[in-house]
Amino acid sequence: MPRRRRLRKVVAPPKFKGYMPYGNFGKTNEFIELLYEEYEAIKLADYDLLKHNEASELMGVSRPTFARIYESARRKIAKAMVEVKEIRTVYGNAWLDKDWFICNECSSQFSIPDANMKKECPICKSKLIRLINNIKV
Ligand SMILES: [Zn+2]
Repeated sequence: MPRRRRLRKVVAPPKFKGYMPYGNFGKTNEFIELLYEEYEAIKLADYDLLKHNEASELMGVSRPTFARIYESARRKIAKAMVEVKEIRTVYGNAWLDKDWFICNECSSQFSIPDANMKKECPICKSKLIRLINNIKV
């Protein structure tokens, strides 16, 4: 399955569309875009506690590339906290090895095994689902 090399593998999309600060005075409409691969880098390094070389292998990138993605993610999150900005997750240069869907009714995210292709939300049974994987390679 050859893919463009600059794409980074993400196992699962983030389970949220973003984060919103609360309790802030002087609301702004500004937001920071956190790429899927940046979310994945934070998850692998700071949640799964993988070493950078292990994490870079999982994402299919070199170790320096991983370090760059990870650093960018941390800076964005720090900036969002200090400057009180909303974080929104966006696709970026990621690819997902399964088809992931989002439900337009309840916003659940899920992947559907090929054998069980019902084309409906497993949570609310809505048929109003759409593919998250918007990059076709
Ligand atoms: Zn649903």
